Amino acid sequence: MPLKESEAIVLRTFPLGEGDRLVSFLDRQFGRLRGVARGARLPKSRFGSTLELLSYIRIWYFERESRELVRINQCELLESFLDLQSDYQAGVYLAMMSEVTEAILGEREVADPQFRLLLLAARAIRKYGPSPAILAYFSLWTVRLGGWLGTLDQCAQCGKAFEKEAAYASPGSSGLSCADCKEVWMKPISQVALSVGRAALSGTLERLLKEKPSLSGSDEISSFALDILEHHMERKLVSRQMLVTGKSE
Ligand SMILES: [Zn+2]
Repeated sequence: MPLKESEAIVLRTFPLGEGDRLVSFLDRQFGRLRGVARGARLPKSRFGSTLELLSYIRIWYFERESRELVRINQCELLESFLDLQSDYQAGVYLAMMSEVTEAILGEREVADPQFRLLLLAARAIRKYGPSPAILAYFSLWTVRLGGWLGTLDQCAQCGKAFEKEAAYASPGSSGLSCADCKEVWMKPISQVALSVGRAALSGTLERLLKEKPSLSGSDEISSFALDILEHHMERKLVSRQMLVTGKSE
């Protein structure tokens, strides 16, 4: 039973047995894993506050042959996002980011870009507050990393470029349609939302935030991306129902 040492982000934990915790985490090298932290819920546990939502940790664990769950031996906190939870919207964003990441990655699916995206978005929430543009950036990039994003520039059916007009999406599908090709049940996506999306995909998060993108446009493009993610997850995101959107500009 070799001991592994790695960097990880805690995605979720569940109480287990008398005083243990079941921990779902994203290991930077070995992908999404689940393990047991013995005694983590007992007072004076050696895990301290390392196993909180989105904690960035150094982790040591044993892999057990023929068993799905690893045994977590030790954790050291590298960066905590626990303090951000005191803000409601920030807490919801963190919960959504962890729920999405957990749901879209298969067991042991290696995902270093998703690891970096998660850390980048959590740090941006600390620095700039829970801006809807951060959620837009995170959700669009998650869709793109999953390989599910079509172009935001032109109609998927006739190829016409979207200029000063809205596009139309069928919920959960990545291809957008123009006004001529749309079906009646498609959801419009405004030009403003499309431009926030293009800015998110073509530059850094820092640059996107400096441009002070439209709040409603950010919410709209997030919603487009989250629909695609839910479609691939084949379920609704629990944390999405807690989201407060539609704030005035
Ligand atoms: Zn068209």
